[in-house]
Amino acid sequence: MFGDALLTLAYPQACVICSRSVEQKRFGVACEACWQGTRIFTDDDEICLKCGSPGPPACGRCEVLAFTAARAVGMYKEALRESALMLKRRPYVPQHVKDLLEAAVLREPLSVSTRVVPVPLHPTRLKTRGFNQASIIAETVSKALGLPVDEVSLVRVSSPEKYRAGLDVKGRRDTVAGAFKVTHPRLVEGEDILLVDDVFTTGATVSACADMLLEAGAKTVFVLTLARA
Ligand SMILES: [Zn+2]
Ligand SMILES: [Zn+2]
Repeated sequence: MFGDALLTLAYPQACVICSRSVEQKRFGVACEACWQGTRIFTDDDEICLKCGSPGPPACGRCEVLAFTAARAVGMYKEALRESALMLKRRPYVPQHVKDLLEAAVLREPLSVSTRVVPVPLHPTRLKTRGFNQASIIAETVSKALGLPVDEVSLVRVSSPEKYRAGLDVKGRRDTVAGAFKVTHPRLVEGEDILLVDDVFTTGATVSACADMLLEAGAKTVFVLTLARA
């Protein structure tokens, strides 16, 4: 509390969405009112049981994706979008975002996960940025589950520069296929993996990771992202 008050005084920060002041450091880059206007999923939301998209229990668009089930804290809009963007620049998760991630991961089916694996960045990109935002999110959820973060089992082998914008789902899938490799199959064998990333867009990236993890013997691969586009 004391630290919070001090930081608020030292950095009277303006909400990146509405420019009013963010009264509490726990809200990060957005004010409380903007957080209240942000779509966060709850138990009452109707979502596709596999990919987590808002709508009927089977969306009919995610059969090709390799993971077992994917969930997100909420939609990639407003305060969640701004928080995800900030996380690419600064390796820090505000308390409110931590609370939301914790609530999301403690819900079924993700709550039965036995191993937390962040989607890896390519070593070149990691060097430039200095940290992997997926690992920062993974730290928070692994604490909630009482599990360590596994950053060794899954690695990225192909360069992110190969990604091209504007590709459809199939195009993206072809581009990321072969981008990941499991280097320690014994660590993932028989495990219920929780794969963690910042944003779920087409699902191609997490699906490519899930493919490799399942091929290496993982029992299931759940996915948690901060937001979904
Ligand atoms: Zn605001
Ligand atoms: Zn679906």
